[in-house]
Order: sequence, then structure tokens, then C-alpha cells
Amino acid sequence: MELLTHISLMRTFSIRARQAAQRIGLVPTMGALHEGHLSLVRCARRECDLVVVSVFVNPTQFGPEEDYQQYPRDLEQDVKILKSFGVEAAFVPKVEDVYPSDFGTRVEPGQEAVPMEGVSRPGHFRGVATVVLKLFNIVQPHAAYFGRKDYQQLMVIRRMVNDLNLAIDIVACPIVREEDGLALSSRNICLKGKDRRAAHVLRTSLKKAEKMAASGERDAEKIVAEIKNVFAVEPCAQLDYVEIVDSETLKPLKQIQSGNVVLVAARVGTTRLIDNTVLEVIS
Ligand code: AMP
Repeated sequence: MELLTHISLMRTFSIRARQAAQRIGLVPTMGALHEGHLSLVRCARRECDLVVVSVFVNPTQFGPEEDYQQYPRDLEQDVKILKSFGVEAAFVPKVEDVYPSDFGTRVEPGQEAVPMEGVSRPGHFRGVATVVLKLFNIVQPHAAYFGRKDYQQLMVIRRMVNDLNLAIDIVACPIVREEDGLALSSRNICLKGKDRRAAHVLRTSLKKAEKMAASGERDAEKIVAEIKNVFAVEPCAQLDYVEIVDSETLKPLKQIQSGNVVLVAARVGTTRLIDNTVLEVIS
């Protein structure tokens, strides 16, 4: 595996690969790798000749009050894992190379960035879209792999790729969960003791929503109310938002149908978690 820490070296790697007609798959991550990330790597491995995993904790997607400094980092372990997975390159750029002091351009994402995380984390998706476009331009992948765990992010990226005519296939991969259902996240290591147990409330509430839809409930308000009830009895978790939306436009719905997505965000102790599920309505 090549460990590439300079943008110019990453570029050279990709130019050579493209000259050799090899399909490049990019898995963008912020590191502290877990099975969720590795499921994306496996998917890329199946579909591409070369897999590049980027590890970069992107400062521009964190708000001033957020956990940029505390965000889990373990580059040594990440490199070990990626080597053992046989990826061809790990791209680990330095913050000052990605954002030199005179950096001034930002990507303004589309409508998908407005609700939910867009409300709770102003500027978050501008930072995400900017860094992802930069990674796309540097790595020049044919395909890029994203998890459905960050569903809104996936839709923001899809919109950007579409709107800006980028010739990159965006591949969505399923959510990987712990045995008890908690969606894997780098931030989960911050959950200790009762907070770890309380974090299960996100999955419990989504399961409740799945069950209601499966028994024919179509009233989004009733499902949302039930999710709020599930959170109300868990004192360690504060619900940030719950929304039931169209899977493409992310517009909120009054009446639900199969394929609609329920998304929740909550703070458990000091850790912010998100999760979502797709509803199947049985009529
Ligand atoms: P992150 O390092 O948290 O920025 O995540 C990098 C990529 O891994 C994103 O596309 C995430 O959606 C994806 N990812 C993170 N956790 C999971 C998970 N539990 N299941 C599937 N994909 C995930």
C-alpha cells in the first residue's frame, strides 16, 4: 500500500492508474476506521481495480462549538487496517495543504443541505461538499463510496455530482450496525457506560417507526410522535430532530409511502449521533 501524504503524489498515482486504464474507487473517510468504513472498502474492492481510502478530519465541516479537536484520531491503526485490507493507496493529506492560508473558494450545496443537519450544523455541508469536491479533483476516481448512515450527506454529494457534471459514480452502501443495532460511528468510542446503553434509543425509535409503517400507519405525524415518546423515556439522550422525508428531495411528508426515510439526530451525553431507516408500508 502506498501512503500518500502529498497532493502531488496522490495526483501522480491517479494519473498513472488512469493511463493504465485502471478503475479507481475512492472511499473518503475521517479515519478512526471501523467496520462501517471497511464495508465501503469491500464494496470498492469488488468494483474497482484500485482502491484509494482518504483519511482526513476536515476542519471546515465542524462548527466553532463542535468536536473538531476531540474527534477520534488513530492514524497508525488506520494504516495497519488499510494495509491488511490490501488497498492500493491511503491518501492522508495535511490540513495546511488542503487549506492553505489564502484558501477562499467554497462549494454552496443544493437544497438537500438545507433541512435537518443543515439547521443543526450551519455550514456543515458547505464544508463537506468543498472537501469532497477537492478529493474528487485530486484523486480523480471513477467511483466514490458513501455510507447510507450519513443519508443526507449522500444526497448532498449526489446533487453536487449531478449539478456540476462530475463523471464519478456515487455508490451508496448499507448501514453497518453493532450487534445491538447501534450504527457504527467513529464517535461511538466516546460513549461510555450508561451513555452507550442509552445510545440504543436511536435504533429503538427507528424500529418503532418501521413497525408502525409495516402495520399500515401512513400518518407521518403519528410516527414522529411515537419516536419522540421513545426518546422521552431515555433521560441520557436528547433528541435533536426527527423527520420523515422523501428519499430524493428530503422534503418532509404528511402521508408516508414505501421508500420514505426517517432520520433522527440526538445527543447522548456529549456525543452527537445520527441514524436513519427506510420505511416499508404494508397496505
Ligand atoms: P466518516 O469517517 O464518519 O466521515 O465516514 C466516512 C464514510 O463512511 C461515510 O460515507 C459514512 O457514511 C460511512 N460510514 C460511517 N459509518 C458507517 C456505518 N455504520 N455504516 C455504513 N457506512 C458508514
